[in-house]
Amino acid sequence: MSKLIYLDNAAATPIDPEVLQAMLPFFSDKFYNPSAAYLAAKDVKTALNKARQKIANTLGARPSEIIFTAGATEANNLAIQGVMRKFPDGEVLVCAIEHESVLAPASTFKSKKIPVDDKGMIKSSNLLELINDKTVLISIGYVNNELGAIQPLGEIADMLKKIRSKRLKKDNKYPLYLHTDAAQATNYLDIHVSRLGVNLMSLNGGKIFGPKQSGALYVQSGVTIEPLILGGGQEFNLRSGTENVAACVGFAEALEMAQTERHSQTVEKLRDCFEENLQKLVPRAVINGSRKNRAPHISSITIAGIDNERIMMELDENGVMCAVGSACSASSQEPSHVLSAIGLSKQQIYSTLRFSFGRQNDQKEAITAAQLLAKLSADNR
Ligand code: PLP
Repeated sequence: MSKLIYLDNAAATPIDPEVLQAMLPFFSDKFYNPSAAYLAAKDVKTALNKARQKIANTLGARPSEIIFTAGATEANNLAIQGVMRKFPDGEVLVCAIEHESVLAPASTFKSKKIPVDDKGMIKSSNLLELINDKTVLISIGYVNNELGAIQPLGEIADMLKKIRSKRLKKDNKYPLYLHTDAAQATNYLDIHVSRLGVNLMSLNGGKIFGPKQSGALYVQSGVTIEPLILGGGQEFNLRSGTENVAACVGFAEALEMAQTERHSQTVEKLRDCFEENLQKLVPRAVINGSRKNRAPHISSITIAGIDNERIMMELDENGVMCAVGSACSASSQEPSHVLSAIGLSKQQIYSTLRFSFGRQNDQKEAITAAQLLAKLSADNR
């Protein structure tokens, strides 16, 4: 079999060699517990603090606003449960196409879903209608993991500012926080927190050429949240447990690299090359989601009449890896809630595949994948 073609970068990315190098000492000489009192351990604590500082600089935040977590699932849970436990009689609004790690914790509180249009986009006016005096938290993913839809966070943040100042006059005791899950945005979009206008933001290392189970939650100063994990009081009392220093250091490296060297245009060209080649060969192939407000790495394709699971397996047998919906919902047989929300029928959902590109892919791979998909789709009609 010729070289494998990996087109599932939205699920996981390979680790960058420089990131790995930065992590290695913490698996050998620098194994000490960062909270220990001796000098050798202080070095490890210093490395942890530097990693936090690097992340803060990258986001335009303060180090005290960065809470290390084991990935975006944990960050999303800490954001939603952490805030809502402080305001148990308040309400949380979540976008209908969020990742399960947002939807599931939100469903344990009083919550409502913000609808999206047939391109996966939120309309500010629809959101406005759902906000009431008890709305405490609004959680909207920056980039959707199945469609690549980029939500208008800046516009939403401006709208919330106006509502907050009206609330102040009414003596309303509830805050109105904006949380975003930026796991799919970090490689390609600006995630500077004040430019975005968010109060909380979830990040993930495993999708930005860093280690899996690494990430962070940004919590703006003044936002009050409750910890989910109690114990030794690490991470400003918000996430107890001995820090995974190697993962924190690797995540900081990967995040800085992702934001300084954004490869948006390169990746977009590859994705577009794949789609153009495919549509020439398979005119019935439909690209889902917004063409205008779409992150550069994701291509969601529906080809009427195909069985997506079967094609995915045949592609795999031929060396091309892609996904059926999201790989992050480990065992779900249910049709994708994201594709349902944009109005696709069950039949269309079961004929949909997700291809996601990364900076390590090349044009030849994009063309080979399109040609193979075209061939298999013709065989599978
Ligand atoms: N949020 C989004 C948008 C994702 O795409 C994913 C995983 O694909 C997650 C959260 C969960 O990340 P993790 O499984 O690394 O915790």
